[in-house]
Amino acid sequence: MRIDKYLHAMRIGTRTQVRRLIKDGHVTANGEPVLSGKQQVTPGNDEVALDDEPVRYQEYFYYVLNKPVGVITATTDASAKTVMDLFNTTDFRDDLFPVGRLDKDTEGVLLITNDGALAHALLAPAHHVTKIYEAEVTGEITADQVAGFNDGLILKDGTQLQPAEAEIVAFHEIENFTTVRIKIHEGKYHQVKRMIGTLGERVVELRRTAFGPLTLPVGLMAGNYRALTETELAELR
Ligand code: URA
Repeated sequence: MRIDKYLHAMRIGTRTQVRRLIKDGHVTANGEPVLSGKQQVTPGNDEVALDDEPVRYQEYFYYVLNKPVGVITATTDASAKTVMDLFNTTDFRDDLFPVGRLDKDTEGVLLITNDGALAHALLAPAHHVTKIYEAEVTGEITADQVAGFNDGLILKDGTQLQPAEAEIVAFHEIENFTTVRIKIHEGKYHQVKRMIGTLGERVVELRRTAFGPLTLPVGLMAGNYRALTETELAELR
């Protein structure tokens, strides 16, 4: 591939900045000065360096985002803010996309990557990736009421769900709402809200705390993201 493309893909700078760096003699390939952006290099084979610092080629990028309420899970939208708008210009790449979907009013763990094969595998129904949600639900919900989730709930429209697990975290008596933790192994449209709907109650806040082995990093505030660690990535694969 062209070396200017390589450096741009590795987020060294805009195409113009990359061209300038090459022109000003900052770039070498296998120790030899690079004179033109058109010079061909083979990722993983040729040693590209910027001011003597190696620039290694990375094909896939993986981030965990703590999606905030108010942004949509999409790559682009004509009017709404998307999860990709939360990325800074250094990390942003137009091939990144969210794996799966959280509602606009849901927050929590969202995997963002450009690895289509991994995304495909994680989203495949056969994979049964476990998702854990914490829902603030109107009224008092009892353990007995959610026990039925284990048997594979039938939603109001007749949709048969796979067995799920739910536990009552706390009942907030004064405000009259219940925190419920729900573990599901599939991902139907508005699934958690519709599950709670079968109890005649409503989800007023929803947060995903885990997507498979990927949990919400401690201290990662809503709206922020970070690259996956090697361990997190290995667990996802
Ligand atoms: N279930 C929902 O109802 N909404 C989400 O965003 C995710 C799961």
